[in-house]
Amino acid sequence: MKFCSKCGKEMVDEAVVCPSCGCSVENEKTATNENAANGGNDGLAVAAKVFLILGCVAQGWLLLPLAWCLPITISICNKMKYNQPVGTGLKVCALLFVNLIGGILLLCRSDEK
Ligand SMILES: [Zn+2]
Repeated sequence: MKFCSKCGKEMVDEAVVCPSCGCSVENEKTATNENAANGGNDGLAVAAKVFLILGCVAQGWLLLPLAWCLPITISICNKMKYNQPVGTGLKVCALLFVNLIGGILLLCRSDEK
């Protein structure tokens, strides 16, 4: 058994409207349920989650260049270390994909032996 919040009369648990005063009983309960269902799922929360995931993906992609930056840098360093000629293609790769200034310096150095 429950009691009406307005008039205080006893009524059955399934009652939607108070039999004596007619005020609806389910209003409060429904509102609470809606809030609970909404928990963390309002528009702002969804947008925040989407942007967080996008941020993770975008930053994850930033790690990908390491896959070619490191090999190019290591091979150029090794060639210079052993006084081997650094191919123009490799220099252009370094300029385009690793570092603009480093690539330009390498290309300027091309005539030296
Ligand atoms: Zn009532």
